[in-house]
Amino acid sequence: MPGCELCLAIREKELVLFEDPHSVVILHPHGAVPGHLLVIPRVHYGIMEQMPDEDLRQLFRVTKLMATSLEKGIGTKELNVIITNGPAAGQEFPHFSIHIIPRGKGDTVKMGWEPASVSKSDMDTIEVKLKEACRQFKRVEEKREVSEEPIAIPKESYQIKHVRRIP
Ligand SMILES: [Zn+2]
Repeated sequence: MPGCELCLAIREKELVLFEDPHSVVILHPHGAVPGHLLVIPRVHYGIMEQMPDEDLRQLFRVTKLMATSLEKGIGTKELNVIITNGPAAGQEFPHFSIHIIPRGKGDTVKMGWEPASVSKSDMDTIEVKLKEACRQFKRVEEKREVSEEPIAIPKESYQIKHVRRIP
């Protein structure tokens, strides 16, 4: 899309770290910390809901690979994976992307929220409305057979050791 900074980065191969037929990974040009990555679909989609399921699946597979690459490359052991979907959610580019932000104790990244005060009746109403909205997809998902090729992850990576520690 003309004027899109991420389309330009893909075309010019600016700060590109990794590419596959569906996606491109770049270093964020003005990221929160060194190593802040953007996982970008090659096709210009504005928001997540516009993406075909297969493209989205590939994007998350690459996100997982990048977490491993960050550990191997710069010793990142903890990180945030963030999607800012729409301007009110803080989306900074008109092109959908997944942010991967390496984290460390005492870093300067600010993230979080205060729990909202929601009444029991409001919570019940929201639950009913969303369950109804989800029902249409449940029927579709039950019919679908998912087959995934497993991604090879080094057996002794930090993430795997960390997962094993969880009871
Ligand atoms: Zn774009």
